[in-house]
Amino acid sequence: MKEFYAPGHRTCAGCGPAVAVRHILDAFGKNTIITNSTGCIEVTGSPYPQTSWRLPYLHANFENAPSIACGVVEALRQQGKEDVKVLSLGGDGGTVDIGFGALSGAFERRHNFTYICYDNESYANTGVQCSGSTPFAAWSSTSPVGKVKQGKDRWKKNTAFIMAMHGADYVATASIADPDDLKKKIKKGLEYDGSKYIHVLTPCPIGWKFDSQKTIEYARLAVNSGMWALFEIDQGEFRITEKPKDLGNIGEYIKGQGRFKHVTASQLKEMQSHVKKSWKELEKLEKSGLNLKTML
Ligand code: SF4
Ligand code: MG
Repeated sequence: MKEFYAPGHRTCAGCGPAVAVRHILDAFGKNTIITNSTGCIEVTGSPYPQTSWRLPYLHANFENAPSIACGVVEALRQQGKEDVKVLSLGGDGGTVDIGFGALSGAFERRHNFTYICYDNESYANTGVQCSGSTPFAAWSSTSPVGKVKQGKDRWKKNTAFIMAMHGADYVATASIADPDDLKKKIKKGLEYDGSKYIHVLTPCPIGWKFDSQKTIEYARLAVNSGMWALFEIDQGEFRITEKPKDLGNIGEYIKGQGRFKHVTASQLKEMQSHVKKSWKELEKLEKSGLNLKTML
């Protein structure tokens, strides 16, 4: 495998997003231009005058990586170079919160590019603040644990579905515990000329407070417990791509993650019942055969 993400970058040991980037770039291959919003992967991979990117790379601000990608797509089109792939990368803060307006606009205009969110469920780069993608009950520096509140009191934003409802050609969720599935989904999306969105769960030992050798283990546990659902929405058609092996076993998933160490019995119960209910809904949706594009 040719490495397009060079070693020597400055991510922390056990960084989930860094693992994701290796696989993502492997799936894209050469002939790809990347735009990347500010975040962990940007600050650790492009400290001037060094870079880990062995592909053309543009650093954007927190809020405009998708807009810059659109500019690149249209410039390539004017030059007759539509064979060049355009990838826009952002963390959860840059994607689901700060950069969401630019992302939504780009998908509404149907630009031909792939947007990938590497989700470490917080603004890890700036001190682990809560994002729209931080899960329920998790500690973060802005969803603290104390007498009044015990971590975040809201559920995680379902960004993959929100992007599907833009009429995206292809939407999928993925996990670094299953890189073949991640790559397969990226390549499937690349068959379409429109906007593609992939959301990858990427555990972060710093923000989640776990031992750095357990990154892939937590990525796997998230899928097995049902906390992270793997699916695709291909031309509006929803399909579950992996069923949880141990649905609702949230206790196993949160064990050893410092961000959940305060979780009370009632919070755990709430999480278990939420996950089970969500899965029922996903299965109902799959069975119904409802095409999300027809709902636009
Ligand atoms: Fe990776 Fe987390 Fe370190 Fe950021 S804070 S570089 S996501 S391990
Ligand atoms: Mg993040």
